[in-house]
Amino acid sequence: MKFPESLNGIKALVLGGGISGNSAVNLLLSTGAYPILCDRNRPESSSIEYLPDSTEPNALPEISLIVKSPGILPSHPILLYALEKKIPVFSEIDLGRHFFQGKILGITGTDGKSTTTSLTAHLLRKDFSDLQEGGNLGIPFTSFCKNPISLAVLELSSYQLDDSSDLHLDVSVFLNLAPDHLERHKTMENYFLAKLKIADFKNPNHSLIVSEKIKDRILNSTQLRCKILSFGRDSKSAAVVDENALQIRTANFIYDISEFYLPGSHNQDNLAASILAAEAIGGKPKSIQSQIPLFKGLPHRFQIAGEKNGITFINDSKSTNLHSMLAGMSTWKNLEQTCLILGGRPKQEDPKPLYDFLIQKIGCVILIGEGRPAWEEGIRSRIGDKLFAVETLNDAFDILKNGELFSASKEKQKVRLKNGAELSSVVFSPACASFDQYKNFEERGNHFLSLVESFLKKIQ
Ligand code: ADP
Repeated sequence: MKFPESLNGIKALVLGGGISGNSAVNLLLSTGAYPILCDRNRPESSSIEYLPDSTEPNALPEISLIVKSPGILPSHPILLYALEKKIPVFSEIDLGRHFFQGKILGITGTDGKSTTTSLTAHLLRKDFSDLQEGGNLGIPFTSFCKNPISLAVLELSSYQLDDSSDLHLDVSVFLNLAPDHLERHKTMENYFLAKLKIADFKNPNHSLIVSEKIKDRILNSTQLRCKILSFGRDSKSAAVVDENALQIRTANFIYDISEFYLPGSHNQDNLAASILAAEAIGGKPKSIQSQIPLFKGLPHRFQIAGEKNGITFINDSKSTNLHSMLAGMSTWKNLEQTCLILGGRPKQEDPKPLYDFLIQKIGCVILIGEGRPAWEEGIRSRIGDKLFAVETLNDAFDILKNGELFSASKEKQKVRLKNGAELSSVVFSPACASFDQYKNFEERGNHFLSLVESFLKKIQ
């Protein structure tokens, strides 16, 4: 879809008034356009024109384009009307792209987008000191797209990509693919194709970084003229992760990852993708190497939430599907002394990998929220009374508080639950969306952190 030469004086409807919608409004104002904000709720304080999103499409004023927020369903009546009347619809990313003059590195995938976006930006900070990270991660692209900076590192979700035209990025990363958001995309193929829109296939100067696990699928699905660089354990990959030598090898450099802070092979994959992306956009290997030990990760992603006398709590509230929970747990030691707190609103996923995992020697599971009707029976049939099913995180902590604290050795304590489980760690990795009980994963993670804090205060 062709973007208008100038936005000056045109009326533009911004559909959806979240963070990115409001940022699009501000950008439009700065270009001399007349934005109309269309949302379910009237903004509390705003001088711009507002329409409820239930407005009959026929009653809309004449508009030249629509900026669609990612959360709005494609079946929204205003979008159907736009299709019929051939009113161009752009994403907030399209809008930012139109103005941005620097290079763009985009990152997508089912899991690890935020971590890899932040990590890639971190690796590049020495060589691109003015770079800005954002997109789906925190700062909307339109809020900085007019700044004269050399590089934007953007996290891009499948919704944002689905809504966008050709973005012509310089470097793109497609991290991994697992079932997610199928209530919106309907099929895995649609979901895959939405994510694939990140790549600029026809451009020989574009580099697409992909996991070796999905490389063939990409090669089979489209004709590529861009460079494709894979990462993984295969020695033929462009970035080879060597877990034994603690190295990541590319054609340019052998990176020492012995001081990389984030745990697990999935995070080594994220690092390999980040290194390839950083090299492809022009980062120097020595600068990249020097940045590796300094990255400490993002909150709510498999982070230590508290530790005392040998009892450890992990907050992985950002785990909103089985793929991410299993990735985090795959390298977790002492499973038999671990209590895994799971649940929330499950995605449309086959639960078999969850059941297969739990049957290994998990200490106990506490299942909460809408995870109960979905998974209780299946889990109970595998692990019997090692499962507690309760309503809320508070209830989960009541179970832990009712357990008996005992000293396993001089400095190490454990919690013994009524069912006999002896625990040295509690991992909160819900594998579910948070929306059944919380506004978002941050609120859920912060609730967990406050419960951990009060639990640990009681340990002497
Ligand atoms: P996203 O932005 O894609 O949701 P995050 O970096 O916020 O990704 O991490 C979300 C969850 O996915 C966390 O539980 C994290 O531990 C897990 N995770 C991170 N990287 C990967 C990966 N490469 N594969 C699977 N899970 C991952």
